[in-house]
Amino acid sequence: MKVALLSESPADETALRVLVTAVLRQPPQFVAPGFRARGWPNVAQLMPAVLRHLHFNTDADALVVVVDADDSVVHTEPHEAPGYFHPHCRMCQLRAVYRQTTKRLPPAHGRERVLRMIGVAVPAIEAWYLCGRDDQVTEAAWTAGREQGALPYTRANLKHRVYGTDRPSLPHEIDCALREVQRHRRDTRRLEHDFPGFAALAADLRASGARQNVT
Ligand SMILES: [Zn+2]
Repeated sequence: MKVALLSESPADETALRVLVTAVLRQPPQFVAPGFRARGWPNVAQLMPAVLRHLHFNTDADALVVVVDADDSVVHTEPHEAPGYFHPHCRMCQLRAVYRQTTKRLPPAHGRERVLRMIGVAVPAIEAWYLCGRDDQVTEAAWTAGREQGALPYTRANLKHRVYGTDRPSLPHEIDCALREVQRHRRDTRRLEHDFPGFAALAADLRASGARQNVT
């Protein structure tokens, strides 16, 4: 399978390659270099052009998109109801961008469309990096804190815990990200359990694997 990545930084991309490979249990072929956006809403703005480019100019099978949730509404089970769309949820928004972009594309390069695999890190990808190291950091803890009006941590806290500073250099950021995702290299179940925004990405990846094996 040939996979392109759209993420917010080169460090995110490096870590995501490890996590995507871990879920698929074998390394896909990554389209290099990955596509980079400058945070939200730039990711959603770039996504249509990236999807069209991949569809018409490459034989990529899938686009992996991962964004930080920041302070946006967290995607939950009720959002999965058919036809439901939450305008302030980034998962719902990115899925809608994908649907709108791909629905009228003619088949190209022997496939109907490039598949989408979307993950949202709540509240930021550093929370994923801390999974299995800091039990207090989970999507449920974040959501409960928001409901109670007392956030359990901030994004700056999370960066500090991962990098030892909230302004890491890029090489240091990449080193730390790679060190942390090693915990999930052979088994992503903990990460999926603690972070449904990652589990959604894993489910998209596995669905594509099933399709690949059939065709
Ligand atoms: Zn949603």
